[in-house]
Amino acid sequence: MEKKALTCTDAWNKCLKIIKDNLPNDSAYDTWFKPCVAKDIKGYMLTISVPSPYFYEYLEANYIDLLSFALRAVLGKNAELQYHVQVINKVSSVTYPTNPGIHVKNPPVPFPNENTTQLNPFIIPGLQQMEIDPQLNPDKTFSNFVESDCNRFARSAGLAIAENPGKGTFNPMFVFGGSGLGKTHLIQAIGLEIKQKFPEKIVLYITASLFQNQYVDAQIYRNKLIDFLNFYQMIDVLIIDDIHEFAGREGTQNAFFQIFNHLHQSGKQLILTSDRSPVDLSGLTERLLTRFKWGLTAELQAPDFETRKAILKKRIYNDGIEMSDEIVEYIASKVTTNIRELEGVFTSLHAESVFNTTKSKKVITVEMAMNIIDRLVNSSKREISIDKIKRTVCDYFGLSLDAIYSKVRKREIVQARQIAMFFARNLTKHSLAQIGAEVGGKDHATVLHSCKTVEDLYETDKTYKQHVIEIEKRIKNSL
Ligand code: ADP
Ligand code: MG
Repeated sequence: MEKKALTCTDAWNKCLKIIKDNLPNDSAYDTWFKPCVAKDIKGYMLTISVPSPYFYEYLEANYIDLLSFALRAVLGKNAELQYHVQVINKVSSVTYPTNPGIHVKNPPVPFPNENTTQLNPFIIPGLQQMEIDPQLNPDKTFSNFVESDCNRFARSAGLAIAENPGKGTFNPMFVFGGSGLGKTHLIQAIGLEIKQKFPEKIVLYITASLFQNQYVDAQIYRNKLIDFLNFYQMIDVLIIDDIHEFAGREGTQNAFFQIFNHLHQSGKQLILTSDRSPVDLSGLTERLLTRFKWGLTAELQAPDFETRKAILKKRIYNDGIEMSDEIVEYIASKVTTNIRELEGVFTSLHAESVFNTTKSKKVITVEMAMNIIDRLVNSSKREISIDKIKRTVCDYFGLSLDAIYSKVRKREIVQARQIAMFFARNLTKHSLAQIGAEVGGKDHATVLHSCKTVEDLYETDKTYKQHVIEIEKRIKNSL
């Protein structure tokens, strides 16, 4: 039987009835849903008009599940909801998200080697013309990115996105891989390529930690928060680097969630990186993780020997320096897991050959390479990770690693978790929020409290102190 097409008002009224039935009281309904009116319906997409961006934020943050349940019940499983947000500000009324009155443009990316000042890109949007610096490093191009089996898939997906940003199914693009494997380089190359092909598009590269700082600044004042959200919702290609740093930051995640939804719904491209796959990300809300999996996930793997050689040779060529094949092979055989380290060794060798006491250029020898590798690479291997700490602590107490994440409040597990937090705080550079996220989603206050408990027990309980000393020894010895 063919269904008669619903008008937008009919559809929304049906949704409202379901929503009302499922809300615990009328006041939530009167405050948040009554003021929203149906505006349009196209196929499965219902548009509702909400009085302010705050409504939109609030509904998305608090009632997303109820809304989607109601919409699906009325329009079927393909139902989609779009918001039409009215922003009333002092100057004039703006229809949000898109307002033809606002001219936003993104200046073209400068040519290589031009000095770009790395300004904070958050510019409060006004109704005047606005320029947004894409914050891309002009050297991180596709042509400087050596292609190999370890990155071929991610690279070609990136090129495909650059042809057609926001339009294909690769949205979001989620790139993950260990430190120094080329994530930042690749996403910057995508941004540069898009700017070159579509100079009018607004492209913005930002690190998750800068985004987080901007959010913290903005949320102090409600108006600033709205500006912050509006600003990000105007971007055509939003590139956020190291998204795992949102772990444990709920406010930032909520803000990003809204921005994500808005951009995705409007066919804008999102490109994200993380040090691990969405499945392994801890401390991020489920609804964000689900969205990360909507598009394309691509892993960057550690480079093989030939790739490491090719990367070094490219640098030698670009920088116009001399280095024998023997040395290239030596470095490539010793620095195996991190391209940043590979480059670090290269740069130091280059520097050492140029700036030495005899003033004449020194020929680079294998011996020089050996010394530098020992100094740079082997010492950085000695860095301690939270993962290492968790494993050592669990091993020590004969617990499985899962125990750390579990909600169990058994004394020995609580104790192991506290000691792991204590060492993570003292032996790594991670923030309290990150540490909390790594031990089963604790907040920063819990981490601080745990560290204090360990310190107190250390002072007062001799056996406990022995445990802590022994664990520290094991963590450090295992490096
Ligand atoms: P990540 O963001 O994954 O930690 P980066 O993108 O910062 O790593 O890469 C580290 C360094 O290695 C950068 O200088 C980058 O230009 C270089 N690099 C990474 N991958 C490649 C590649 N495939 N070809 C050339 N250089 C690369
Ligand atoms: Mg990076």
